[in-house]
Amino acid sequence: MAKKAPYSNEADYVVVGSGSSGATIAGRLAQSGAKVIVLEAGKSDEKFLTKKPGMIGPMHAVPEIKKLNDWGYYSVPQKHILDRKMPVPRGKVLGGSSSVNGMVYVRGNRANYDSWAAEGCTGWDADTVNAAYKRMEDYEGGADQFRGEGGPIRVTVNKTPQEGSLQFLQATADATGCEILDDYNGASQEGVGRMQQNAADGLRYSSARGYIHHLAPPTLEVQTQVLVTKVVIENGRATGVRVRDKDGSERTIRAGKEVVLAAGFVGSAQILMLSGVGHAQHLKDHGIEVVSDLPVGDNLHDHMFHAMTFHATTSKMRGNAWFFAKGVAKEVARPGSTFLANSVFEVLAFLKTSQATNNVPDLQLHLLPWSYVSPNQDEPIRHDVDPRPALTVLTTLIYPKSRGTLRLASADPTATPLIDPAYLAESADLDLLTEGSELVREIFNGAAFKGAIKDEIHPGRSLQGSDLRQAILNRATSVYHGVGTCKMGVDETAVVTPDLKVRGVEGLRVCDASIMPSITGGNTNAPAIMIGERGADLVLGRG
Ligand SMILES: Cc1cc2nc3c(=O)[nH]c(=O)nc-3n(C[C@H](O)[C@H](O)[C@H](O)COP(=O)(O)OP(=O)(O)OC[C@H]3O[C@@H](n4cnc5c(N)ncnc54)[C@H](O)[C@@H]3O)c2cc1C
Repeated sequence: MAKKAPYSNEADYVVVGSGSSGATIAGRLAQSGAKVIVLEAGKSDEKFLTKKPGMIGPMHAVPEIKKLNDWGYYSVPQKHILDRKMPVPRGKVLGGSSSVNGMVYVRGNRANYDSWAAEGCTGWDADTVNAAYKRMEDYEGGADQFRGEGGPIRVTVNKTPQEGSLQFLQATADATGCEILDDYNGASQEGVGRMQQNAADGLRYSSARGYIHHLAPPTLEVQTQVLVTKVVIENGRATGVRVRDKDGSERTIRAGKEVVLAAGFVGSAQILMLSGVGHAQHLKDHGIEVVSDLPVGDNLHDHMFHAMTFHATTSKMRGNAWFFAKGVAKEVARPGSTFLANSVFEVLAFLKTSQATNNVPDLQLHLLPWSYVSPNQDEPIRHDVDPRPALTVLTTLIYPKSRGTLRLASADPTATPLIDPAYLAESADLDLLTEGSELVREIFNGAAFKGAIKDEIHPGRSLQGSDLRQAILNRATSVYHGVGTCKMGVDETAVVTPDLKVRGVEGLRVCDASIMPSITGGNTNAPAIMIGERGADLVLGRG
């Protein structure tokens, strides 16, 4: 459990990063009785900001608050979207990004996992990962063939949705003919439904909440404010890690059995490269001795959305500081009684565009009953948020064709790597966002709103056709779902094998969202926790 320094310098397993996957695998490995140290560069998550679901707003809108728990990364200029530098927020706190994210709970489409398996990733097919998902969940709808009960992560639905959210739900079904789903994480994902959140009773269920604070295995030692600078590799075997403590001193932590990197799509790739695992020439360019020549940092990809905001009289929410401050005061007095007890999102849809293949929905809509930042989130200080009551849809590209890279900027472990997701490099990605945006307009014309929609605030009805397409280049934003930099697979493009072992190094695995060969169709937190569960199975030889 969380311990004060001096910390131990030896364990059976050393897990680097306490994020969605890291806290999960660390908790499960320790539950088996093994001595586990989990190393986290950030601080404790035991504070209102990270515990209270609705604090997601100020956490990302106010720079002074954001930097308390965030690495502060930006991408390199993105040449296909007007050279914009995209913010790349990543949680730097116990629980990692699961402590700062939107708590939208989506497993992805079952077809995603079957396609991983079809590419040779045995043990990652839909039925196998379903068992891991069932184990990790405590779903308020109860257990069935697809859903779990009694697991560390509580999953609920907001009990007090805005009227406008329910109107959107009906209008989506009316406009597209899709099904209204009870559970998009069950047998079928296609349709529209109430958003499931990993939050309950006014508390964020981050991986740290579930697997560290609540599971609390006695043989787990949590070390915070510890920066891992490299993996120690001796004679081809990972024997531990080098770390820098908050006072700047360095030490080595030994792993009797294995080192597990769970530092996320930025951190795991960076640490591998600093340890001599990566493209050989790139490592040599930075004066790093090559241990294993692997395509670390290739295959970076991410989801993108285009936010569209409509003035709607059926939402009571107001995007201003006064409304928010009143909410905080009420929530402190009566925990669980205000909007702060829930995620900001209320409805999700998974729909098919003209690009969809194999009958898999390729467009996700996130509905939030709030106004939204416009035109984009590039600036450290957020752009305009309209004060009127509003409904916003994040029109989301979930199967990007664009692929980018992550590379070292320097051999200094504190230097931000060069993060280049190559957003919208493939024109099909922009086509999809444009088609999706036009569909959203159709939905908002629906009778189900009963006249509540007064105006399209952003981007504005005047932007049609090629003007809309051009505007999206300036408005499209990352969903903060970067994956793929330590790709799992069975060929030369793979960094890790299907049992998550780093090719060419003994005793070293990667277990986080970076191993996804291709991104899942939906938000990536639940899949990252599932990867932590599967990682524990694989390390412990449970198949
Ligand atoms: C703002 C935001 C909103 C999001 N919203 C949602 C959402 O609503 N729903 C959803 O499903 N997904 C969401 N996501 C995405 C989701 O949270 C991530 O995909 C997921 O958390 C990734 O898990 P991970 O374990 O790979 O990495 P992370 O959770 O990022 O964990 C990596 C951990 O490693 C630590 N670390 C990194 N480098 C080092 C080092 N050198 N030494 C020590 N520690 C290190 C980090 O501090 C961090 O704790 C969001 C992400 C963000 C940032």
